[in-house]
Amino acid sequence: STQTMSKLLELCKRTGFLFPSAEIHGGLRGSYDYGVLGTELKRNIQNLWWQDMVHRRPENIVTIDTSILTPKSVFAASGHLSNFSDLLTDCKLSKERFRPDKAEELSLNKFHGNACFQIKAKNTDEAAQWQNELSSQHLNGIRTIRNGSDIYIFYSVFNKPYYEGKLFVPGLLRIINCPEELFNSPPREGLIFSEEVSNIDYIDFPYLGYVSSANSPFLTDPRAFNLMFKTFMGPVDPVKKIIDDTLIQYKEGTSRGDQDAHLHQEVERTVLQNIDGPTVYLRPETAQGVFVNYQYSLKHSGGKLPFGVAQAGKAFRNELAVEYAIFRTPEFEQLELEFFTAPGESTQWFQHWVNVRADWWKRYSNNFDKFRLAQHAEHDLAHYAQACTDIEYDFPWGWGEIEGVANRSDFDLKSHMDATGRKLGYLDAENNYIIPHVIESSSGLNRACLAFLFDAFTLEPETNRVILKLHPALAPIKVAILPLIAKPELLDVSQQLTDRFQNKAIPCKLISQTLKIGKRYYRQDEIGTPWCITVDFKTLEDHTVTLRHRDTQLQDRIHIDSVVSHIQSLLLA
Ligand code: ATP
Repeated sequence: STQTMSKLLELCKRTGFLFPSAEIHGGLRGSYDYGVLGTELKRNIQNLWWQDMVHRRPENIVTIDTSILTPKSVFAASGHLSNFSDLLTDCKLSKERFRPDKAEELSLNKFHGNACFQIKAKNTDEAAQWQNELSSQHLNGIRTIRNGSDIYIFYSVFNKPYYEGKLFVPGLLRIINCPEELFNSPPREGLIFSEEVSNIDYIDFPYLGYVSSANSPFLTDPRAFNLMFKTFMGPVDPVKKIIDDTLIQYKEGTSRGDQDAHLHQEVERTVLQNIDGPTVYLRPETAQGVFVNYQYSLKHSGGKLPFGVAQAGKAFRNELAVEYAIFRTPEFEQLELEFFTAPGESTQWFQHWVNVRADWWKRYSNNFDKFRLAQHAEHDLAHYAQACTDIEYDFPWGWGEIEGVANRSDFDLKSHMDATGRKLGYLDAENNYIIPHVIESSSGLNRACLAFLFDAFTLEPETNRVILKLHPALAPIKVAILPLIAKPELLDVSQQLTDRFQNKAIPCKLISQTLKIGKRYYRQDEIGTPWCITVDFKTLEDHTVTLRHRDTQLQDRIHIDSVVSHIQSLLLA
C-alpha cells in the first residue's frame, strides 16, 4: 500500500539505505544517494549476481567493463539514435484554462498523455501553500502548476501495462486528507473522501478528468524525445564557441543579423559543425559495449560458441517521468549478460536463461509469489526480438519490470557489422560463417534493491514494529555485537569478538551505546541484521554468548570460540 511505500522510504532515509541526492542544494529530480547500509545492500546484490552469472556458471562466461562515454556511431548503428525515444507533450496551461467538461475519457491501452485534475484553494496564499506542500513531497512524476488560486496536478502516463487501469498517486493522501472545502466541482469525484482515506491507494481512472495529447486544450501534439544524455568531449565548449563566433561576426560586421532567415541558416550550420563533432553519449544500457567488443570476447572465451559476456555498470536515460524513488531514475545500474549462441540453439538457451534468472531471484526472496514471469505477446515484441520474458515484482503500485530476458536474434551483431564493415560472425565446425544470435538478461540493480527491500519489509501485526527480513547474503550488516551494559569488561570481550568477525571480513558492528538491549535488538531488526550476539556477565564466567536470530527472535547460548564459525556456516547455508 501507499503506507508501506512511505514507511519504507522513511526507514531508508533515516537508517542510511538511500536518500535524495544533493538534498542541501534542493536535490536533483530522480537522483538518489546510497548511504552506509544502501551501498552494502547494492554491492551485495551485485556480488551475488556476479558470483552466480560468472564464477559459478559452467556456460563459458567472460567479463568486460566498457566505457560509459560512447561515440555517436555506436548508437546510430544500434538504432538508439532513431528509436530510443518517448513521446513528449508540451503543456500550454498558462495560456488556457483546464475545462473539465472538455475532458474526454480514454481507453487505457491507447493512452499516452497526462491525467490532470484541479484543486481550487480559497485564495492565492492557500494555493501557494498547497503547491509548496506538494513539491516538498518529491512526488515523482507529478507536476503542479498554479494559476491564481487554482492548482492543476498533472500525472504522466505512458501506456504502462502495469498501471492496470489504475492511477497510482503516491503523494495524494495528503490532499485526500485535506479539508473537503478545499476542493470544488468536477472532477472532484476522483478525490475520494471517506473515513478510511488512508487505506485508499489507488484512484480509479474513470473518476479523473482526462486530458489527452489529442484533444487537450493545453497539450501540444506528442513529439519524439530521445532518451539519451549527450555531452561534449574536447577542449572547446561548442556552445560557447558558437556564441563567441556569432559575436565576432557581429563585431566584424559580417553577420547579416537583420536578415532572420540567413542568420538562422548560419547559426544552424555553425551549430552542426561545432556540436556534432565533439558530441558523445552516456550509454543508455551496458549492452552495446559488449556487442562492439564481440571479437575480443569471442577470442578470450576460447573462440567457440556458445559463450556469454557479463557486464555490470551504470547506464543513463533522460526519463521524462521518473517514478517511485529508485524504480525509474535517470542514472541507474544494470547487470547484463549477452549470451551468443548458434542460431538454431537460441530458443533452448533463451528458456535456459529465463530459468536461471528466475531461480536467482527466488533464492533471495521471502515471497516468491510476488515475483512473476511475464512473457511478451508476439505483437509486443521489439521488431528484432524473437522472444522476451520480463521478470516482474508486485510493487505497492502494481507489477513492475525488474529484469528482461530476450532472444535478440542476430540484430545487434548485424547492425554493427553493417555500420563498420567488420566481420562479427563465427566460423562453425562445418566451415559455415554464421552470425550468432544473442540471448540477453538485463536487470536493474536499483530496482533489485527496491524489490528486495519491499520483499523483506515486514510489519509485525501486534507491535507495528518493522523487521527487514533480508536474506543474510543481502543484509548490509551480518552480525551486531551487543554488550549487555556499558561495563569495560563486557566492552573488552565485545571488541575482541568484533575483531574476530572483522578478521574474516564478515560485516559486523559493535553497538555499545547505552540503549536498553531490547531497543538495540529492534534497531538491528529494522535494518535487516540477521544475528545479534549479546555479551553479558555470564560470558565472563563461562565464555558463552547469546545468539539471537532476527526472524524467529529465538536465542541460543553458544561458546564464544565457536560463534564465528557458526555464523560462517549459517551464511553459507
Ligand atoms: P521500463 O519498461 O520499465 O522502462 P525497459 O523495458 O525500458 O524498462 P530495459 O531497457 O529492458 O528496460 O532495461 C533492462 C532493465 O534495466 C530493466 O528491467 C530495469 O530493471 C532497468 N532499468 C531500465 N530503465 C531504468 C531506469 N530508468 N531506472 C532504473 N532502472 C532501469
